[in-house]
Amino acid sequence: MYEQFLNLGEGYTEEGLLLLYAANLGGFFEALEHSNARSLRGKLIAAAHKRAAVGECAYPGCEKDPIRRSHVISKGLALNSIVEDLNLLTPDLSEFGNPRIREINRKSASTFPGYCTSHEAVFGDFEKAGVLNNATDFKLQLMRSAAREEWWVARTHAYLLDLRSILSGEIDTAPLDKGHWRETVLRPLDGLCSSLAIRRERLSSVHRDAANAASDGGSLPPWMHAVSTEEHIPIALSGSTSLIHPESYTLVFVSFPQAGGRLTLFASSRDDGELVKAYAEKYVTDPQLASGLLTSWMTGTDHWFVRPSWWSAQSEVWRTSLLSELGNL
Ligand SMILES: [Zn+2]
Repeated sequence: MYEQFLNLGEGYTEEGLLLLYAANLGGFFEALEHSNARSLRGKLIAAAHKRAAVGECAYPGCEKDPIRRSHVISKGLALNSIVEDLNLLTPDLSEFGNPRIREINRKSASTFPGYCTSHEAVFGDFEKAGVLNNATDFKLQLMRSAAREEWWVARTHAYLLDLRSILSGEIDTAPLDKGHWRETVLRPLDGLCSSLAIRRERLSSVHRDAANAASDGGSLPPWMHAVSTEEHIPIALSGSTSLIHPESYTLVFVSFPQAGGRLTLFASSRDDGELVKAYAEKYVTDPQLASGLLTSWMTGTDHWFVRPSWWSAQSEVWRTSLLSELGNL
């Protein structure tokens, strides 16, 4: 029952802490009086609903209302080329411990509340052209992908802080061993919250730097990379990951079919330029590694969309192991 409140959905979980947390929280529910457990469930459901609330425009510093369905990966640019009967397949992590694949209409695929009308308008040029082909287009796409990642982590972070405050209130008032429950219920949550706060901060830097680079014009800076390849697997994805080599940094990536091949873009924040350059040299110059990269990103984000018949044509072993790895994010 409590697991549904803990599912971070759409990809971001820290399995170890989360499992520990779910188990401890389960024990906490059992320790409470029946009526208190019921009221706690009600509060947690309300927090989960609040989590879905829409905030402000994603553009750094803009406070206008966002349009509700901004595409991270453009429909016209990439999704239309891989739909079947207007549909795509995407991972579904809404059930804790049971990652699945579900059908999604191209209108809802790859959307988030995004930018306000005027900030959304900057994508008009490449959307009309139907292709991303210059440094400004690449920067704008990376900005958009970073915005979605930042939004997602910020939303999850706010949700967990809400959970913490509800649970902390419960522990303070219930006639229980407070020290024990603070240690088992609140401490793991504090761990999750602080790692999300760091991730949020880093994504915010990637997003802000991409927005500044996009408005500056000029060629791609060394912390942004664009790679075109011949391969045309019908997959579109956008996400972020934390890499540790040789130091820890955050990478935002986006990859989709374009003009009969594939366009892959990735960026870190400006401060991590050297790290992302080393990453690019290692992976992108080797075609073998580059093709493995797509699969590895598919297990690093659940923000991906595939052509249904392509997915069905893959081996069941591969599909199952991919989804289970994704569920363990
Ligand atoms: Zn705006």
